[in-house]
Amino acid sequence: ATPISVMVAVGRAAQIGILIRKGEALQTAGKLTCLILDKTGTVTAGKPALAEVLAFGDYNGSQVLQFAASLESGSEHPLAAAILAAAEQRGLALEKVRRFQAVAGHGVTGRIGDRQWLFGNAALMAEHGIDTGVCRDKLAELAGIGQTPMMLAVDQAVVGVVSVADPIKPDSAQAVRELKRRGVRVLMVTGDNEITAKAIAAQAGITEFRAQVLPQDKAETVKTLQQQGELVGMVGDGINDAPALAQANVGFAMGAGTDVAIESADIVLLQGSLLKIPEAIALSQLTVANIQ
Ligand code: ADP
Ligand code: MG
Repeated sequence: ATPISVMVAVGRAAQIGILIRKGEALQTAGKLTCLILDKTGTVTAGKPALAEVLAFGDYNGSQVLQFAASLESGSEHPLAAAILAAAEQRGLALEKVRRFQAVAGHGVTGRIGDRQWLFGNAALMAEHGIDTGVCRDKLAELAGIGQTPMMLAVDQAVVGVVSVADPIKPDSAQAVRELKRRGVRVLMVTGDNEITAKAIAAQAGITEFRAQVLPQDKAETVKTLQQQGELVGMVGDGINDAPALAQANVGFAMGAGTDVAIESADIVLLQGSLLKIPEAIALSQLTVANIQ
């Protein structure tokens, strides 16, 4: 039978926006030694917005944005939403894309007219043998301030850069401080590039991070830490995060996250603030102390 104190704590948690889906999670949360935070939508607000457009060669900025948005029209990625919103705001008409492909963790490709277009990160360009020298410095500069720059290429040449910014939530840094104060090791994981990850982690006061983690590898990161003896909490919001949330000793989903993430989580943070995690940990420790 569930001890009465657990039921009381579940009720108390709900009142402060922490939804406990599995009773055991409440007893484990206070013992976590390590917490993995997804970057986009967890540490950051998760509302990426267009920050910069650069054009090289034969195309101007409007055309770069227009082709990028056309390619993204078949994608459900948050980055795609930011680019589509910007194109719509500027009244840019979308081109018809054939043979659209979304490449997980890399970007999108397709044919417009009789030419093959690519839009995505350095890994996507490398995969297609495209030289990115023309924008290498600019890319590093944008990533260095925490933005996510993506390249547009046609016929094996980069013709533009579209950069998107997704700032950290106002209370992410405070939440990280509270967690560290409680002796919890904090890590950030992201599919984003190394430089952007480093900049965002630094803004949130996180010293350990893993970048360019493919969606299918996030759960592997949790497993590896568990094998090293850590009791691991995972916090995420996306479909990408679901396997990692399920693998973790306690999975926390952001209330504004996707249904799949919420279904895979043990605890749902209704207001989406990371400050709810140290609160959940404190409540868990109190509850366990009351049972014993
Ligand atoms: P995250 O864990 O940050 O949600 P993803 O694994 O979904 O990251 O994506 C990692 C990277 O792959 C992105 O930062 C971006 O550079 C590139 N990427 C993924 N999807 C797209 C897309 N639809 N358009 C452009 N780039 C993309
Ligand atoms: Mg995310």
